[in-house]
Amino acid sequence: MMELQVKPTTVLLPGSTVGILGGGQLGRMVILEGRKLGYRFITLDPSTDCPGSQVSDHHISAGYHDVLAAEQLGEWSDVVAYEFENIDPEVVKRLEEKVFVPQGSRLLEITQHRVREKETLDACGIPVAAFRVVHDTEQLRDAAAELGYPCVLKTVTGGYDGKGQRILRGEKDVEPAWQALSRPGEPCIVEQFVPFIKELSVVVARNLHGQIATFPVVENIHRHHILHVTLAPAPVYERIAARAEQLARDVAEKLEITGLCAVEMFLLEDGQLLVNELAPRPHNSGHFTYDACATSQFEQFLRAICGLPLGSTRLLTPAVMVNILGEHVEPLIQRIPTLPDNVKVHLYGKKEAKPGRKMGHVTVLGESLAEAWGTVQQLGIWEDEDMDIFENN
Ligand code: AMP
Repeated sequence: MMELQVKPTTVLLPGSTVGILGGGQLGRMVILEGRKLGYRFITLDPSTDCPGSQVSDHHISAGYHDVLAAEQLGEWSDVVAYEFENIDPEVVKRLEEKVFVPQGSRLLEITQHRVREKETLDACGIPVAAFRVVHDTEQLRDAAAELGYPCVLKTVTGGYDGKGQRILRGEKDVEPAWQALSRPGEPCIVEQFVPFIKELSVVVARNLHGQIATFPVVENIHRHHILHVTLAPAPVYERIAARAEQLARDVAEKLEITGLCAVEMFLLEDGQLLVNELAPRPHNSGHFTYDACATSQFEQFLRAICGLPLGSTRLLTPAVMVNILGEHVEPLIQRIPTLPDNVKVHLYGKKEAKPGRKMGHVTVLGESLAEAWGTVQQLGIWEDEDMDIFENN
């Protein structure tokens, strides 16, 4: 029996107010799920009409570096959470002195910085791709020669959806890649190129009392560096799924995560798993849980930070999640009157449908992944519906 780390008085029951730093779709879906349970919500985001503010009880329109506004959020809330990583850890530290911030600033500091993230994982015995920290072109040249080509140069901060990284195929790429990515006073990280056969992820929850639960491992397919499709469950052997879930558990336990963490991994041909990245919050690859699991990742997040027992993560039915980017909104809207009944539509209430912007997602349920994918292929919303998602099986 696991010993309780906090007294039960820290359990925040329905009726409590949850403050959320960030007003994006992740916060919106946490709120929609939390309202079901009777929690109240305040959002903080620079925009007055963001996905989160449209569904929260109260909204503070302020920048993420605005300490006074964050303190106001803290004063009105029983607990404060963040729904994305680009929050200044200093703001979170200030908040931590006054209000309960279960996710904490430490995890933010780790996951915002690729070097700290990789070093922390490495120190915890979690397998990651070989990497070097480089401060100039000379160091990059040496590191690349040591790791071997191809390798991947990445900025240490601010990279997301594939931004801030370059593949180096030979020495001729060293100089241009360094020029493109390096920033004054900041090193870069160079990693061995991983010849993965699949990208997998596991969303893991750990609550205030140390209880841990993992959602089923999924496979993620990216297009133009943005998540396109999630297959739930990942079509992999049972022993690989079990190891992926164990790795996510290890991450949650060793990093003492409170809340949620998405653990992104590479699967190699020989069955090896390497962790690529962590996201300390609900994650796009966990959106399928909303319609396909007994408990959604959004409800689970709330349960974890409020100290409630975690809900069942059982997958009720195979599902395929596909993102709706700006360019897919119109085709989806046209299709809505004739959508099959196994397609669940989520739109985030964003006004401007810019190409590449995440506007919503659909989750297609099926008796099998093949059946769900068959429905996706009939929708006529995305350009590559003819792709063979089972090619590596
Ligand atoms: P990241 O920004 O680290 O999440 O990387 C974005 C995408 O780039 C990943 O989802 C992979 O498809 C690819 N990628 C990142 N790092 C590597 C690597 N070391 N080897 C091969 N592909 C990578």
